[in-house]
Amino acid sequence: MPELPEVEEVRRSLEPHLLNVPIAAVRVHRRSFVCVGCSKITGLAGHKMVRTHRHGKKLFLIADDGQTLHLHLGMSGRVDVVPHDSPVRKHTHVVLELANGIDVRSCDPRRFGGIWFYRTYEQAHAAQLARGLGIDALELTPAHLRHWCKTRGFLKARLLSQRDVAGLGNIYVDEALWAARLHPLQRLHRLKGEMIEQLVQEVLAVLQRSINVGGTTLRDYRNVSDQPGAFVRELKVYGRGNEPCRRCGTTLKSATIAGRTTVFCPSCQKRH
Ligand SMILES: [Zn+2]
Repeated sequence: MPELPEVEEVRRSLEPHLLNVPIAAVRVHRRSFVCVGCSKITGLAGHKMVRTHRHGKKLFLIADDGQTLHLHLGMSGRVDVVPHDSPVRKHTHVVLELANGIDVRSCDPRRFGGIWFYRTYEQAHAAQLARGLGIDALELTPAHLRHWCKTRGFLKARLLSQRDVAGLGNIYVDEALWAARLHPLQRLHRLKGEMIEQLVQEVLAVLQRSINVGGTTLRDYRNVSDQPGAFVRELKVYGRGNEPCRRCGTTLKSATIAGRTTVFCPSCQKRH
């Protein structure tokens, strides 16, 4: 599933094609894919998108009059930017036809994603915050996690929940925990201040390194120009169960934690 760096790559690679180009028409192939405001989405015709915004794994496209599309890429969702006359890929649900002959096509074979339409960006943002979404992971500071000293629960599950920090999924949680030498089943209230500081530092570092090379491609993810991300070559633990730890040589352990396959080093990631 695309996490923060992959959605950021889609956002950055989409902008030069999309922004400030009039939308000639909006075609909805599969109405159920537009979760809210399906009938209103065609009202975007005649307008142009003037800015984009990303919060965690959520991508917002904002039009000149404030109308906003929220794209959630889901497990295998992607955005294709292609000439208008190119063949329509199977599972294409919504198409923005731009006046410059380019189509922006939202495509999702497994349909875990979706598009939400809002009259204004403020409505879109409020609807997301109402779901209990935490700060965007690139803006995370130790202060955002200060309440953990009184919070029950385990570290990996809490990071995956998006409640305190938005944008981290299974890949980047495992990578950040390894880098910060923290166990996925670390109890939150036992984390010391310096451990939280280290964790925040490693979260920011791993995300930034991945963004710099276009994210991680495992199976489905591609940016809008159909390019895979190169971060897969830099993964330290994700997908490396039973291989040696790149720091201490111990065999990495793979276990189901927080409902997800989790890889960690039993030697350098101790519980405190
Ligand atoms: Zn190790």
